[in-house]
Amino acid sequence: MKERRHPINEVKLVLPSHSANESFARSAAAVFLTQINPTVTELSDIKCAVSEAVTNCIVHGYTDTIGLIYINMRLYENREFRIEIKDKGIGIPDVTEAMQPLFTTDKENERSGMGFTIMENFMDTLKVTSVKGSGTRVIMTKKLAPLPRVIK
Ligand code: ATP
Ligand code: MG
Repeated sequence: MKERRHPINEVKLVLPSHSANESFARSAAAVFLTQINPTVTELSDIKCAVSEAVTNCIVHGYTDTIGLIYINMRLYENREFRIEIKDKGIGIPDVTEAMQPLFTTDKENERSGMGFTIMENFMDTLKVTSVKGSGTRVIMTKKLAPLPRVIK
């Protein structure tokens, strides 16, 4: 049996899919991370990945409606950050295809189809699961670099 690791801190957020909540989610992730002193680059990478995932819930998951976005952020020992971003929207019929660079179902709004590629590049791991008609779950992790030792 797989052992469940215990996070050293965990927060859960539930947000309606208003476009204003994209920046709220991005900032919430940044604030959560301040407790482990991330570098500027780590922070901006994570904010960017969170922004892409939440935007996808808003624009694709709940295109014509307002639904709920569920966010779970965890910190583990050894400076490992994990974030899960989930919607109960339309779902993705073919996840492998959706994750290809430049693949988009929304050409009218000039989307570039790079959201998943950005998440993949800015985080250490990306896992996407989806059921057509039921919703989409994105899980990303990133291990932050050890803190520099202060020489006195
Ligand atoms: P960009 O992110 O560059 O603006 P995009 O959103 O189309 O463009 P991706 O974020 O890579 O590109 O997503 C690829 C495709 O996967 C989307 O066009 C959409 O069809 C589907 N998709 C992604 N996230 C969701 C979601 N939460 N619910 C439903 N479909 C999604
Ligand atoms: Mg996108």
